[in-house]
Amino acid sequence: MQADPLNLAHVLEHAARFHGRVEVVTRRVEDGTIERYTYADALRRTKKLANALKKLGVEFGDRIGTLAWNTDRHLEAWYAIAGQGAICHTINPRLFEPQIEYIVNHAEDKVLLLDTLFVPMIERLQHKLPTVETYIVLTDRAHMPQTELHNALDFESLIVDESEDFEWPSFPEETPSSLCYTSGTTGNPKGVLYTHRSNFLHANAINGKDVIGPSCSDSVLLVVPMFHANSWGLNYSCPMVGAKLVLPGAQLDGESIYELLNGEQVTLSAAVPTVWNMLLSHLQEHELKLPHLNEVTIGGSAVPRNLIEAFDLDYGVTVIHGWGMTEMSPIGSACRLRPFMKELSYEQQVDVRLKQGIPPFGVWMKIVDDDGSELPHDGGTFGRLLVKGPWIVKRYYKDDHDALDAEGWFDTGDIATIDEHGYMQITDRAKDLIKSGGEWISSVDLENAMMEHSMVAMAAVIGCHHPTWEERPLMIVKLLDGCEPSSNDLLDFLKSRVAKWWLPDNVVFVDDIPLTATGKISKLTLREQFRDYQWTTD
Ligand code: AMP
Repeated sequence: MQADPLNLAHVLEHAARFHGRVEVVTRRVEDGTIERYTYADALRRTKKLANALKKLGVEFGDRIGTLAWNTDRHLEAWYAIAGQGAICHTINPRLFEPQIEYIVNHAEDKVLLLDTLFVPMIERLQHKLPTVETYIVLTDRAHMPQTELHNALDFESLIVDESEDFEWPSFPEETPSSLCYTSGTTGNPKGVLYTHRSNFLHANAINGKDVIGPSCSDSVLLVVPMFHANSWGLNYSCPMVGAKLVLPGAQLDGESIYELLNGEQVTLSAAVPTVWNMLLSHLQEHELKLPHLNEVTIGGSAVPRNLIEAFDLDYGVTVIHGWGMTEMSPIGSACRLRPFMKELSYEQQVDVRLKQGIPPFGVWMKIVDDDGSELPHDGGTFGRLLVKGPWIVKRYYKDDHDALDAEGWFDTGDIATIDEHGYMQITDRAKDLIKSGGEWISSVDLENAMMEHSMVAMAAVIGCHHPTWEERPLMIVKLLDGCEPSSNDLLDFLKSRVAKWWLPDNVVFVDDIPLTATGKISKLTLREQFRDYQWTTD
């Protein structure tokens, strides 16, 4: 059979040729206005950028950083960089400045493309970024800020006179296409280097009907950022099938998201739970509906029951629970009901949908005990979740050793169960499990149970040292505005939902729960904050 190597630029070539009039819509970072063009336009501009990058001296294998929200120009950068054999290094702008400095230097980025919003931050850092030769601000001349960045160019002026012809070179499909650093909670961030092949296989897999499954009939709002875990592969998978792409720029608040969902008749979307909570508050406050939206994939952290139910019952939108990680490109599983499960009661169906689901073909997974012995698929026994497959990391960027065990399995750091139908459910991050009297307590289960309380906006559970039990769970709660339940009210509520010995020993109320750069609860910060916490009872 034909063995032409896979090149991601061909994805955009396909979209331009066979879905050339399909729209790509962007909310501009600079001023919030809406811009629209087509896949055919996207390809033309991508080729202009590819030519411009070549003239700037970009060569095969060079790392080119992007510090940017989801926009058309960022999309063009992805394809122009990878298509010519360079590596698109997406940087999470929510990271702390020293982390950004670390990863730009670790990756040795040669060029940095950045949104106007991040110019002041990079001006502060630029003298510590010796490898960066050129800064390209993702804007036009009219919106170009006054800047002290050396060799700073505005994107539109850079590409305006370039040719629309560019021959994508041929290279082995194992060539790296992109680089993304995990924002690990401890130590330095680690780079995951994706290849044309791995992204290609991953995007095809998520296009499966039982995974995310966009099609040419969909208008897809891409809330998941291109700088975090590849925007879940949707920036490749949507052009593959000719789905309309809606890119929300920097505005992810409830009102802005609603405006796009409604105005662009969005049928499918994907994001972390926080974004959807903000949207639901906005919808409730203004008594709005979602007439076009059919499905949202939610992942990044566990989906609480109330989110699934609110989308289902109040808005007629199906929530698909997904799980994955930067090291997995990122999709590792998705949860959809099997036909026989439609016979279950609604509550039982939601119980299944709270699980993280089944891996798509390509991902193998198993759970093991501390000795590495495989554990049964009985839905109750939990163990370390190991994975294997062609879009899963083998070795972190510039590391000396593979990140795999002797049989090629990657330890996700998650603790999970797998039931008799193959549905995986995350019980915790290994390091967040609470060890009490020799037994394990799942912080995620406790948090989910607490989130069902109608006055709770956010709940986080950490283990705090206990003189008798080693550790006991402390429940940290942010309440909804105007609500004032007591600690005992909340503990009473939990009593019918969790085992007695799992009940947190106390509830503390806080104004805000710290989040990581990827929108997850920062247990590390909480553990530091409550390091000296003293239990008032034994
Ligand atoms: P990241 O690499 O930043 O995407 O983080 C990956 C980690 O997020 C996983 O290893 C899980 O601990 C967590 N995660 C992702 N999706 C889910 C989910 N649906 N439920 C629970 N945890 C999740």
